[in-house]
Amino acid sequence: MTKKEKLQIEVEVPAKQVHVEHVTCPNGHSLCDPTTLIHGFPSIKVKVKYRDQEGFLFLDPLYGSHDNIEQDIEIPQNAVVEFFCPECGVSLKSEEDTCQLCSSPLFLFHLPRGGIIEGCMKKGCLYHKMKIVDAEQQVARLFENDTLESYL
Ligand SMILES: [Zn+2]
Ligand SMILES: [Zn+2]
Repeated sequence: MTKKEKLQIEVEVPAKQVHVEHVTCPNGHSLCDPTTLIHGFPSIKVKVKYRDQEGFLFLDPLYGSHDNIEQDIEIPQNAVVEFFCPECGVSLKSEEDTCQLCSSPLFLFHLPRGGIIEGCMKKGCLYHKMKIVDAEQQVARLFENDTLESYL
């Protein structure tokens, strides 16, 4: 599937009103950690690498809030890190996009119904977005395009 064929709907989520509950790595491992709560909700635990340092980052599950906790690592402000699944070690870096604000690599988390959350891996950059990828509409749209083209 190429990027052009994929229909992505960007969703505006009101800040600090919903929390993220079912994020997974591309291999389906849950990243939610009920043993480390932030704002009373299970945090999102990722393995984080910065230069030769390795540790864990507990991300604030409240959408639009950034009270993250670092463990075994101290990430300087404006440093660009990389996220990995703590379970299988797969990179959580987005292959398709970079940050719209600072051009740094983005992380990508998967949501239960085909949605994704992406965000900037530069500490201090607050860019993040939720997207829904709709397979059915994508097919319908391709069909529309074909029909249009055949009339022109
Ligand atoms: Zn995994
Ligand atoms: Zn950024």
